[in-house]
Amino acid sequence: MTCKELIIKLKESGSAEPETEVLLLLSHMFGASRADTLLYPGKDYDSQKLLPAIRRRASGEPIQYIIGSVSFCGCNIKVTPDCLIPRSETELLCEIVSELLPDSAHFLELCTGSGCIPIAVLSGRDDVSCVAVELFEKTAELARYNRDANGIGAHRLDIICADALTLDTCTGTCRYDAIVSNPPYIRSEVIPTLSREVLCEPHAALDGGIDGMIFYNKFLSDYKVMLKPGGFFAFEIGFDQANDIKKLCEKFGYACEIKKDFSGLDRIAIIRP
Ligand code: GLN
Repeated sequence: MTCKELIIKLKESGSAEPETEVLLLLSHMFGASRADTLLYPGKDYDSQKLLPAIRRRASGEPIQYIIGSVSFCGCNIKVTPDCLIPRSETELLCEIVSELLPDSAHFLELCTGSGCIPIAVLSGRDDVSCVAVELFEKTAELARYNRDANGIGAHRLDIICADALTLDTCTGTCRYDAIVSNPPYIRSEVIPTLSREVLCEPHAALDGGIDGMIFYNKFLSDYKVMLKPGGFFAFEIGFDQANDIKKLCEKFGYACEIKKDFSGLDRIAIIRP
């Protein structure tokens, strides 16, 4: 099967970005580079090897789960249906956090999923350490695998299994330079309307409750005590949530700065007591 034929197959399978997905698939299965596919468009790839992947893609499974990994801030992150697929918008959150963290910072990350956020930040900042929290043990295991595979020591990134929504924030004595999260933030009623690919991702990683704000509400009401003086919250938010976040910040007495993503959409909230 040639590159062109594969593009047609993926298009027929319902892929919105068949060209990108073909490059990912050919690189993963045959080690083909973008240049290879451009220079040798007639090259024949083993159809027998490709067919199971095409079948899975046609059933609606995201290409990232089929390939089993994504590139995120230059790190290779293993992904399975137990975790959200890391998005490019979240890379921006990592960049901003890396810039804002003081020297030798220690930060808390909530709802870590694949572990992509702390792994990306710690890969670029070897003075920084983090405690990351994940609700599901199987997903926490995946995050630990990703930490180890990316050469980050367990002493720098501790991944614990706990519910960020019910965590007792008052009894511990640990304080953090920042509390970072890309929590589930989609309104529950919107979930059934999402694409079949997104619906393959864990619902718990998407669903932010009736108003999509359940996690931000909990974090801003209860986690302030865990911040060091001068510390800040950094959250990814939905493109339409800036006003709701600002209102919440007013309610709890925080200053809030919203930053836009590469598409010009509101995406990151930096929040300070
Ligand atoms: N922190 C992970 C990510 O950004 C998981 C987020 C989530 O499950 N909502 O990909």
